[in-house]
Order: sequence, then structure tokens, then C-alpha cells
Amino acid sequence: MREVGIANSDGGWMSTFDAIIQLSKDCKFVDCSHTNETGCAVVKAVEIGKLDPDAYNNFLKMEKEKEHFQTNLVERRKKDKQFGKMLKNYKKNKDKE
Ligand SMILES: [Zn+2]
Repeated sequence: MREVGIANSDGGWMSTFDAIIQLSKDCKFVDCSHTNETGCAVVKAVEIGKLDPDAYNNFLKMEKEKEHFQTNLVERRKKDKQFGKMLKNYKKNKDKE
């Protein structure tokens, strides 16, 4: 069985990823998506060949998944709240009986 992990045997991918994280920190835009902003430090690094486009694509994919996950979390919290309200109303109605 082949192991599929984020880091490969020589650690090349991880260090590239670290480089992207570092670049995104250096980016002058506060809420930059690092996709097509002119002047973005990450985009520039890919353009000048400092950054591997494959690693960059992986980074974008992970950012997307992170966003997706966070959205789900917010939705879930909203639903929990609604459920809590429903239970409260149910209890209130029951007390009246
Ligand atoms: Zn950026």
C-alpha cells in the first residue's frame, strides 16, 4: 500500500508550501486571495519562476477547502441555534399544557 501524505520523502513539497505561506504573509494585500491580484507576492513568485506552479495550485486547493470548511461550520452553528430555539419553544408550549 502506498502512503499518500502531504509531505513527500524528501520534504520538498512541505518546504515549498512553507515558502508559499511565507510569501502570503509578505503579501501587501490584507485579504488577498493570491489568485489574480496585481502585485500579489505569491502570484509574482509564480510568474518569475520562484515558485512551482504545481505547489501553487495545491495551495489554492487547500485554501478553497479551508474556506469551504469554515462556511460549513458557520452553517452548522446557525442550525444548532435554530434547533435550540425549537426545543425551547417546544418546552414552553408543553409547560402551558
Ligand atoms: Zn497575495
